[in-house]
Amino acid sequence: QPRVFSGVQPTGNLHLGNYLGAIIKFVALQHEHECLFCVVDSHAITQDRSVWGGPAELRRQIREVAAAFIACGVDPEKNIIFNQSQVPQHAELAWIFNCVARIGWLNRMTQFKEKAGKDRENASVGLYDYPVLMAADILVYKGTHVPVGEDQKQHLELARDIAQKFNNDFAESIAENGFGDAYFPQPEPLITGPATRVMSLRDGMKKMSKSDPSDASRINLTDNADTIASKVRKAKTDPEPLPSEVEGLKGRAEAENLIGIYSALSGEAPAEVLSRFGGGQFSQFKGALVDLAAAKLGPIGSEMSRLMDDPSAIDAILNAGAEKAEAIAAANMREVRQIMGFVVR
Ligand code: ATP
Ligand code: MG
Repeated sequence: QPRVFSGVQPTGNLHLGNYLGAIIKFVALQHEHECLFCVVDSHAITQDRSVWGGPAELRRQIREVAAAFIACGVDPEKNIIFNQSQVPQHAELAWIFNCVARIGWLNRMTQFKEKAGKDRENASVGLYDYPVLMAADILVYKGTHVPVGEDQKQHLELARDIAQKFNNDFAESIAENGFGDAYFPQPEPLITGPATRVMSLRDGMKKMSKSDPSDASRINLTDNADTIASKVRKAKTDPEPLPSEVEGLKGRAEAENLIGIYSALSGEAPAEVLSRFGGGQFSQFKGALVDLAAAKLGPIGSEMSRLMDDPSAIDAILNAGAEKAEAIAAANMREVRQIMGFVVR
C-alpha cells in the first residue's frame, strides 16, 4: 500500500526551488496515492530563532506554507494537509529512533555541516537530530514514497537505514507481535521532475534556500512581476553568450540554472530552450524568463494572499488534517510501543 509523505519547513519565503523540487510533485501525486503533506514546524525551530522569526512569525509562516500547498494545487479534501507539532507521535517516534540511529551516521550528514557552519559547538541539538525526526515524520505513517528535492537524498538514505536497523534489532518481537518480518517499509525518495536542485540566483554553487539571508538569491512564490524582474536581471551570469547546445552549459553553473528554471516552468526540454535563445545575450533570455516566471507565479502568489486573508479557514484545514494524521500515527505508535516492549496502557 503506497503512502506518500513530504514536508516543508515554515522557515521563511517559499521559493521556486520548493515549488519545482517538491510542491509541483505533490500536485501530480495526489491523484494516484494517499498523501500526507506536512508543514514541519518542529523542524523549523532547529535553526536559529532569527531564521524563523519567533512565535508570531512562526504562526504566520505555518499558515503560509499550508496556503502555498493549496495555492499550488494540492487539494485539501483529497490529501491530509497538517502541521507536525499537532501530531505528537512524530516526536515520540523520533525519540525511539534516536536510540536506533548511530552517532556515526549523523556525523556524516552534510546539511548539518552546512547549516551549523563554522560555529558547530553552538548549533542546537535539534539541528543535529533533524534527520532522525525526519525519519520519524515519514515512518510514523509507514510512508513509502517521499517527493523531495535533491538536497534531501542523504536524509532519505538515513531514514532507510533507521527503518532497516529497527526491523533487524526487533525482528523477533516484530514477528511475535504478528507483523511478519519487517515493521517499517523502506521509504523511497522521489527525486524526479524537471528541477530537482534549483540554485541560488547569486551563487550557482549554492542551492536556492528559504533561510538564505539574501532575498535576491531566490524567487519567492509571493514575489510580484517587478520583484521577479529585478532579481532575474541581477542574477549572476558569466560574460559569454548562451550556448546553442546543452553540452555548452558544462562548467557554467549560473547559465545552466537559469536555463533549467526556464525549462521547468515552460515544460520544454533544455535543448529546445537553447535552440531558441542560444547564441543570444543573457539580457534577452532573462527578459523571457521574467515574463514566464511572472505568468506562472502570479496566480499562485495572489491565491496565497487571498487564502492568508482568512487564517481561521487555514487553521480549520490544518486541524482536520491533524485529526486524520493522528489517527494513523497513534495506531502505528501503539504497535511500535508493543514491539519495543514498553508496557502499553
Ligand atoms: P531551509 O533553508 O530553511 O532549509 P529550504 O528552502 O531548504 O529551507 P525546506 O523546507 O528545507 O526548504 O525543503 C522543502 C522541500 O523543498 C524539500 O523537499 C527540499 O528538498 C525542497 N527544496 C528546497 N530547496 C530546493 C531547491 N533549491 N531545489 C529543489 N528543491 C528544493
Ligand atoms: Mg532545507
